[in-house]
Amino acid sequence: MTDVQIANVGKSFGDVAALQDINLDMATGDFMAVLGPSGCGKTTLLRCIAGFERIDRGRISLGHRVVTLPGVHMPAHRRQVAIVPQDGALFPHLTVAANVAFGLKGGGRKHRGRVDECLELVGLAGMGARMPHELSGGQQQRVAVARALAPHPPLVLLDEPFSALDASLRAELRDDIKQALTSDGATTLLVTHDQSEALSMADSVAVMADGRIRQVGTPTEIYRHPVDPWVGRFVGEAMVLPVQEKLANERALTAVGPIWLRSGTPVNGRQEVLIRPEQVQIARANQGAPPDAKSAKVESVAYHGHDALITLSVDGQPAQARVLDRPSEPLVPGEAVRIWVDGGCAAFSTTT
Ligand code: ATP
Repeated sequence: MTDVQIANVGKSFGDVAALQDINLDMATGDFMAVLGPSGCGKTTLLRCIAGFERIDRGRISLGHRVVTLPGVHMPAHRRQVAIVPQDGALFPHLTVAANVAFGLKGGGRKHRGRVDECLELVGLAGMGARMPHELSGGQQQRVAVARALAPHPPLVLLDEPFSALDASLRAELRDDIKQALTSDGATTLLVTHDQSEALSMADSVAVMADGRIRQVGTPTEIYRHPVDPWVGRFVGEAMVLPVQEKLANERALTAVGPIWLRSGTPVNGRQEVLIRPEQVQIARANQGAPPDAKSAKVESVAYHGHDALITLSVDGQPAQARVLDRPSEPLVPGEAVRIWVDGGCAAFSTTT
């Protein structure tokens, strides 16, 4: 069942085309992320769905009600769309329970059961009597999610909800919030510029650039099968290298050696391939490497704890490899190594 339908939506501010021909469908219970760089139109899309902006073209339906067409605009308060903003925006003078009950008709007493249920969902059972200033930033965001969920809205919009929190708290909160939204059956649209947030939380990701949706897919599809090099680079670290020569059996030669092409690779014309650093395997010169591995030199090592990003030079060309931390045998700049590429690579036709 389609619960949210965004069809051919366009919106301009003067000469700026903020949204162009946006099409997105969500079924009840879906968790979708709209992922894109700053200025690509994410907030405008969110504001159009919520009813804070009018659209110029297209149609938005929520739960089988058409809420906006050009010239038709259901006001925001009648759409029952819940928004969780970046800073939570709790009412400072109301208790946690009163904040959660705010959107429920009839007030907190009547809906005590639902308030308690929502607080439990977000891991704050028993904290209803506290005031917002008695909570940490992460707990305040949990209350904001409980408040959004309480009236069972047709759609919950998350607007970069973790950006004000530090990295470790963000990761913990992502899991808990996803769990709370999913177990309550909410249909959720997350707007973010953070790739790891989108890929780790959402069931499907819509990548946006310059007011347009470039690709919609599962996190795995987006990461492994980007529609173009821009999407590939935006969702993760990537080397994009020209194909020097097509080889037999879905193989191709590149500056980092022979690689496997993913199925669906364009057949004709010039091509480039996208290689993720974690696909690049490294062996010391005297250790086991396939016979067609390339010789390379370690230029630098960026240590990240659980793994390290190794910058290499291969025939004078830069390349990168991500390797798990090997405390007993760390690679050092200047070392001679052999490298090869593991797994299939996405390929694209080039026009030049
Ligand atoms: P960020 O991640 O930085 O918040 P965004 O992806 O949410 O960016 P939007 O805020 O939707 O992007 O802006 C999309 C484009 O529309 C930008 O070029 C922006 O300058 C423009 N824009 C947004 N709101 C208005 C407005 N009220 N008046 C004029 N231009 C606007």
